[in-house]
This record gives sequence, structure tokens and C-alpha cells, in this order.
Amino acid sequence: MDKMNINLLVVDDEEEFLVSITKSLSVRNFKVTGVNRGEKAIEAVKAHAVDIALVDLKMPGINGEETLAALKAAQEGLEVVILTGHGTIDSAIECTRIGAFAFLQKPCELNELLDTLNRAYEKKQKNIEEINERRIKGILKAKV
Ligand SMILES: [Mg+2]
Repeated sequence: MDKMNINLLVVDDEEEFLVSITKSLSVRNFKVTGVNRGEKAIEAVKAHAVDIALVDLKMPGINGEETLAALKAAQEGLEVVILTGHGTIDSAIECTRIGAFAFLQKPCELNELLDTLNRAYEKKQKNIEEINERRIKGILKAKV
């Protein structure tokens, strides 16, 4: 798998966290875009291709759950991983229900994070294949 092409959007209101995660992941072949608000994340997925979003739960403005739902609606096939320091079982269940790929607790081991992001990327690739298959089937049906 060519990891050079993984476009990762990190959404977190802690600037220090954004800087450190961008540093750690950029040297591991992720192309990282960092934003500090859910609203900016929605603008970002509309402006450029994103494979995976890593989203904090508690932020000023729209929260992580709302951001997750809006990102999934804005870009078909996108996968979202929630990374939070304030997670509860309830929020984990809710995030999974509305389509989060995974729910991780801060502080998270870098290896666990990388493993989760790589699996989320594989899932995203599968989503795109399925979307394309559905489109092709739709085109063939329309021609019959
Ligand atoms: Mg936060």
C-alpha cells in the first residue's frame, strides 16, 4: 500500500496537539491538514480530498459528534476516527452509531494510532470501490 497518498485531516482545538501530531504523522507518509474547529473541517473536506479525518470530541463551536456526521455527509466514502481525552462509553457508542470507524482515548500510543489510521484507510478504499461499482451498475441499468 502506498502510504504517501493518505490525506489526513486532523480536527482538534488544542493547537499544541495539532502541531505535534502533524509532525509525527508527516514523517510517516501522511499528508496532514490540521484545523482547530469542526466548522473549518467541513470547509476543508469541501475544498480538497480527504481520506481520513481524526476528530476530537470536545471543541468550541460544533462538537466532534456533529463534525463526524457533517464530514461523512459532505464526502462520500470518508472514514472518521475519534480521538478524545474526554471519552465516555456513551459517547463511544453514539460515535460508532453515527459512523465513526474507531474511537481512541488520549493519550494514545503512536503505533496504535497508526494501525487504526491504516485500517481506516483500507476501509475508505473499499468504500470507494463499492461506490464505483454501484455507479457502474446504475449506468448499465439505465442503458437497458
Ligand atoms: Mg478538545
